[in-house]
Amino acid sequence: MKLSDVGEFGLIERLTDNCVVNALHVVKGIGDDCSVTRGAGDTLRLVTTDMLIERVHFLRDAITPRQLGAKALAVNLSDIAAMGGTALDAYVSIAVPTDLTVAYLDELYLGMKQLARRFAVNILGGDTTASKTDLVINIAVTGEVPSSQILYRHTAKAGDRIYVTGCLGDSGAGLHAILNGGTEGVESLVRRHLEPEPHLSRGRWLAQSGQARAMLDVSDGLTSDLGHICGQSHVGCTVVSSRLPLSPELVAYCDNNGLDALDFALSGGEDYVLLVTGSEELSKEPDLFEVGRVTESLDRILIGTTGEARELLASGWDHMRDDR
Ligand code: ADP
Ligand code: MG
Repeated sequence: MKLSDVGEFGLIERLTDNCVVNALHVVKGIGDDCSVTRGAGDTLRLVTTDMLIERVHFLRDAITPRQLGAKALAVNLSDIAAMGGTALDAYVSIAVPTDLTVAYLDELYLGMKQLARRFAVNILGGDTTASKTDLVINIAVTGEVPSSQILYRHTAKAGDRIYVTGCLGDSGAGLHAILNGGTEGVESLVRRHLEPEPHLSRGRWLAQSGQARAMLDVSDGLTSDLGHICGQSHVGCTVVSSRLPLSPELVAYCDNNGLDALDFALSGGEDYVLLVTGSEELSKEPDLFEVGRVTESLDRILIGTTGEARELLASGWDHMRDDR
C-alpha cells in the first residue's frame, strides 16, 4: 500500500493503535490539536508539537530567518490556542545544514524569542543536530487550561453556529504570490503567510465564555479542518460561501490574476485562525464571523454564491497526497 492511498490522516489513524499503555493520567491522546493530560489541581496539561521542513514548509530564500523562527513557534502556539489554553514552555529542536551561518541561526532564535516573550513562553530545551541538506525545525509547546473550559474537536452539537476568528485564504494567496514571483503590491497577503499570528487571547476568551462548544485552528484549510470537527463529533455542517470573511487584498489579488478567492478561503491552509462552534450569542462578538451551522445530518454542504447546495469536499492540505 502506498502512502498516498491512505493520506496523512489515514496514516496517523494507523499509527494510533496501542499508543497509550498507561491511561491513568491521559484525558485525550492522538487526534486533537494538543494531547490532554491531568495537570495540577483543576487544570489540564496541553502538549503539542509541529515541524517545519525546508522545501516542504518553506523556501529558505522566501522567508527571513527571523520570520521563520517566529513562524515555527507561532504554529505551535496556535494549537494551544485551539484548545482554549495558555501556553507555558517550548522545546526547540533543529537539524542544521552545514552551509548555514551562525548569523542565520541568531536571527532565527531572535524571531522565536521575540514571539515567545510576547506570549510569556519560556524556551526550556531542545536538541541540535547536523543535517545533510535541509533545515528542519521542530518545536514542542506545553500549556494548560482549566478543566471545565477545554474545547475539543469532538464536542460539536447539531444546531451550533460555526464561526472563524479572522479572514480566510490570505495565507494561501500569499504563498501563491511567492511561488509565482509576484509579491509586489500584495505584501499583506505574503505577511499573512510568513508571519502567522496565534489567536491565543481569542482562544482563551472563547474558552471562558461558556458559549463555545468545539474548536480547532485552521492549519490545513477550512474544508479539511471543519471535516475533523464533523467527523469526530459525528455531525454534518452547512457552510455559506457568501459568509466567508475575505480580505479586500485577497479579493483584489484574485480579481487581478483570474483566481477564485473562494478556493483560497476554503482550502488555502495556514490561516491559523480559530474555527469554533457554539451558541448564537457569539454572533454578537466583533471579529467572530459566522460561516455556517452544525447539522444533525452527516452531510457536509456548501451553499454557493448563487444559492446552490453542493458537497463540501475536504480539499485542504494533506502531506501524503499533495505535491505542492
Ligand atoms: P495539527 O494540524 O493541529 O497540528 P495534525 O493534523 O498535525 O494536527 O495532527 C493530528 C493529531 O495526530 C494530533 O493529535 C497529533 O499529535 C497526532 N499526530 C500527528 N502525527 C503523529 C505521529 N507521527 N505519531 C503520533 N501522533 C501523531
Ligand atoms: Mg491544529
